[in-house]
Amino acid sequence: MNNFVFQSPTLIRFGEGEIANLAQHIPPQAKVLLTYGGGSIFQNGVYDQVKAALVGHQVGEFGDIEPNPRYPTLMKAVELIRNEGYDYLLAVGGGSVLDGTKFIAAAVCFEGTDPWQILSQDAPVKAALPLASVLTLPATGSETNGAAVVTRGEDKLSFYSDLVKPQFAVLDPTTTYSLPPRQVANGIVDAFVHVMEQYLTTGGAPVQDRFAEGVMLTLIEEGPKALAQPTSYEARANLMWAATMALNGILGVGVPQDWSTHALGHELTARFGLDHGRTLAVVLPALLRVRKDAKGAKLLQFAERVFAITEGDNEARIEAGIAAMEAFFRSLEMGTRLRDYDLDETVVDGLVGALERKGMTALGEDGGVSLEVSRAVFNAAL
Ligand code: NAP
Ligand code: FE
Repeated sequence: MNNFVFQSPTLIRFGEGEIANLAQHIPPQAKVLLTYGGGSIFQNGVYDQVKAALVGHQVGEFGDIEPNPRYPTLMKAVELIRNEGYDYLLAVGGGSVLDGTKFIAAAVCFEGTDPWQILSQDAPVKAALPLASVLTLPATGSETNGAAVVTRGEDKLSFYSDLVKPQFAVLDPTTTYSLPPRQVANGIVDAFVHVMEQYLTTGGAPVQDRFAEGVMLTLIEEGPKALAQPTSYEARANLMWAATMALNGILGVGVPQDWSTHALGHELTARFGLDHGRTLAVVLPALLRVRKDAKGAKLLQFAERVFAITEGDNEARIEAGIAAMEAFFRSLEMGTRLRDYDLDETVVDGLVGALERKGMTALGEDGGVSLEVSRAVFNAAL
């Protein structure tokens, strides 16, 4: 196991009705900016609950943060904060609102010329406004981690800073009852792939491996229940907690991490507008097939422990494990091929060119995902 430092400072309030208790975690004198997306929180009552909880606080609002949040939108919030003097951000929504709010928090305090440099040049985040989250979509893990993904033009880029980890996260499973099935499925796949990016590498550590396998098995068992029964509290609660655990950092300590599936997936979202979860369901099966030699030992463990595949030689068991994962994604009505989204071989050059332009030429836990390998992955995903 590699050396590691791990701290998860986010206080979690989990369960039905917990939104009502959030204000005690915000300094009484804070001027709070509530951030949200396209309006789902008005329809499902979450906005009213948050506003009721914040009575007594000074509160302003910034809405219309779009899915896959965009830089110009977020910079409008930065301007609002500078003009009106907010000093605490409360993000209410899914990963896009949370990620966008993290960028806003860092951008307000950025001292360089253009806060986009945080994403494009890894400019260090030296300060950020305090922020917290009320999650309405179990998927990204953004509610307790320090990662954020922002889009500008056709560039979808991520940054990471401990300074943008939410101070607290409210996870009320009933807020997810209103999710469309497509978003529930996106969330199951996103969480599953987060686990895989940390687990399916060349490293191995028994505690992290067993935790990871437990989260994946839970997603396989509880995900379909959550889809079939939108108001099953237990299923929604288990899905929500699994998605948080998938990417709060604990699975990835001390082991190599991959993240190439996310990097390739981001290109599909940036260029063709595919939902994040859908891009991962397309890329991961293809990537594992292309990289099965480099990842062979872990793929065998995955096939056996997660999908109970024990028959056949190594090659057959590895393929059976990948096929079982792909079948799981398809059972959630996710496409797993580019053609499911009417994309064919004519898109591959553009995708590889975009990776090259961004210097993404040696991705993965071992730097083994060169441009040639990325090309092979996109071709295998056709
Ligand atoms: P999302 O983009 O936040 O939301 C997708 C849609 O779901 C939006 O239209 C939203 O509507 C709606 N929605 C959210 N909660 C709802 C509810 N309770 N009921 C009904 N509709 C609801 O989806 P996401 O999958 O959570 O986030 C995706 C983004 O996160 C991507 O940009 C991805 O790259 C990023 N990501 C971040 C991390 C990380 O570690 N930070 C990890 C993986 C992915 P409204 O806008 O109207 O609310
Ligand atoms: Fe993700």
